[in-house]
Amino acid sequence: MGAVDEVKNRTDIVELISGYVPLKKAGRNYKGICPFHAEKTPSFVVFPDTQTWHCFGACGTGGDAFRFIMQAEGMDFSEALRELAQRAGVSLAPPTPRSEAADKQREKLLDIHAAAAQYFHHLLRQSEEGAQAREYVADRGINSETVERFQLGYALNTWEGLKSHLVGRGYTEDDLVEAGLLVKKEETGSSYDRFRNRLIIPIRDMQGRVIAFGARALGPNDVPKYLNSPQTPLFDKSSTLFGLDLAKRAIRNNDQAVIVEGYMDVLSANQHGHANVVAGMGTALTEAQLGLLKRFTKNFVLALDADTAGDAATLRGINLAREALDRQAVPVPTAQGLIRFEGQLDADIRIATLPPDHDPDDILRETPELWPEIIDEALPVVDFYLQVVSAEYDLTTAKGKSALVREVLPLLSEIKDRVERHHHVSQLARLVKVDERALLMELDEGPRPSTPQRRPAPKVQPSAEAPPDEQKHVFGREEYSLVVILGQPEAVAAADDELLSLDLAPITANDFQRTENQQLFLLVSDWVTGETPPDPGGAEGESNSLVEYIITQCDPLLQSHLSFLLERWEALPAATPGELAEDLVDRILQIRGQHLQEEVASLRFLQDEAEESQNEEQRLHYQTLVDATKEQLRLIHQAVDQRSILGRRRAEAERFGAIRV
Ligand SMILES: [Zn+2]
Repeated sequence: MGAVDEVKNRTDIVELISGYVPLKKAGRNYKGICPFHAEKTPSFVVFPDTQTWHCFGACGTGGDAFRFIMQAEGMDFSEALRELAQRAGVSLAPPTPRSEAADKQREKLLDIHAAAAQYFHHLLRQSEEGAQAREYVADRGINSETVERFQLGYALNTWEGLKSHLVGRGYTEDDLVEAGLLVKKEETGSSYDRFRNRLIIPIRDMQGRVIAFGARALGPNDVPKYLNSPQTPLFDKSSTLFGLDLAKRAIRNNDQAVIVEGYMDVLSANQHGHANVVAGMGTALTEAQLGLLKRFTKNFVLALDADTAGDAATLRGINLAREALDRQAVPVPTAQGLIRFEGQLDADIRIATLPPDHDPDDILRETPELWPEIIDEALPVVDFYLQVVSAEYDLTTAKGKSALVREVLPLLSEIKDRVERHHHVSQLARLVKVDERALLMELDEGPRPSTPQRRPAPKVQPSAEAPPDEQKHVFGREEYSLVVILGQPEAVAAADDELLSLDLAPITANDFQRTENQQLFLLVSDWVTGETPPDPGGAEGESNSLVEYIITQCDPLLQSHLSFLLERWEALPAATPGELAEDLVDRILQIRGQHLQEEVASLRFLQDEAEESQNEEQRLHYQTLVDATKEQLRLIHQAVDQRSILGRRRAEAERFGAIRV
């Protein structure tokens, strides 16, 4: 699989977009106010099944995750790819040997962190100013052994406590800023302590070296409640787990890792003898984090408090802000994400639910004997999801059953193991009391609109371990069209002529929904129209071939996609240029037809929703859009018909008739 597919596979579009726009669940999709044009009623829809988005309002834009980031952040494709890769914890470049200078700087940053941790720890244990923090620690039931083991500390309520201590030990302000410990004021260039009047929780790497700090507010009105070190050369929160250095042995011995929501939960579990517990970093769990754990076990249990667990939105990918509940963000990607992880990591992921109004810390303090029981009773992700989601629908009605099936089936299709998948299908069939075979058929039938070929099958192994020849690429209509275009660029002009003669628009980048295909098509257009930057070699005569041009212009990471397409071109059966152009027109018509059909389906859904909420104005708005979309669809069907053998004969007959008259 190429880097682009991998990044896409590991990006959850709902999670991504909800970082920009508050989204509301609408059936199986999500709705919000379009971030790209001014509007009052939400017409911006995100489709988790296809991992795409579309604005049904004035701007009419849409696309995949890349397109969203490109538009929202004003990035080009390469920047968007890097941004998403970073968020998803995918490393794009093969690890290169770090230069000596970088190694040295890293060492220095580690030294700074070690010195800072010692300084904070000393203040918590000994200083007069640390009294309030000591009180807080005692209130939370944390004993001194735990304080030592986790090297908890206290940051003074001053602007330059840590700064003057470390500068006094010979470190420069610039180093301390790079370590994330000081904040630099842009205007004045002066710097001050990032952490002030907080309980300090050192975050360590797997080897136990301090690489960052978490800091909890002590005053009831201090915000944020938790403050973490920023991203630094040492600390990448998407690939760090709190407590792993202390937990790894227990995880291996128990052959199980328990993942909780907060630092305090880890401290508490550890203190009560449950050492196999770690916490995420205030973000949804990433595959990089699970990859770390996978070195020690393949059995993961997410211990969620009842609020989180009961909130199905969590599993559907909305990350809740947990400030108010004294927690960090919930460590749960979507259920789909979890199941994909299971497939990728060959892991067993379960979800444990705590009693209402209890977090792990409460349980461990009040009724520690319940903890093992709760963990033992954790449910597999799919069972858990089924339980939560089925509680939401009225399964006595056909509508409720159908909604449940439509929500759950795409999820089941993510399960790689056939036997396991069938087990869950039977379970679902019993739940909604329909014939299991009907569900199985729907699953195996393939291209339902909910799982188009755009979405690549999940990978079995993480890329680092995947043998190079085990490459999976998506190959659908878009890719086929692009193969023809790359192999024979003149086909575009011929196809455009044909489309225009059918009163249809010529081929544009918008005919491609996958941004990587769009990018390649745009380069083809540049080359065809001659809008190419001057050849740096300045050679006269033969112009660059299209492929050479694309290779020099496209992002290096797109090259695996490009070479995959070129291989497909080599494998195509021989055809004349005319045949290829005809074929291209057919595919483009199919693509447009499919897009429009999907659009009608989505609009219908929005319409139903507007009707249910008795918003007549909105319902009419969607009706207008449905009508317009159906009209476009009719034109496509008409064009397809005209191009059929019968259609051509009919046209000929008409012309013949006209001449005869
Ligand atoms: Zn819009």
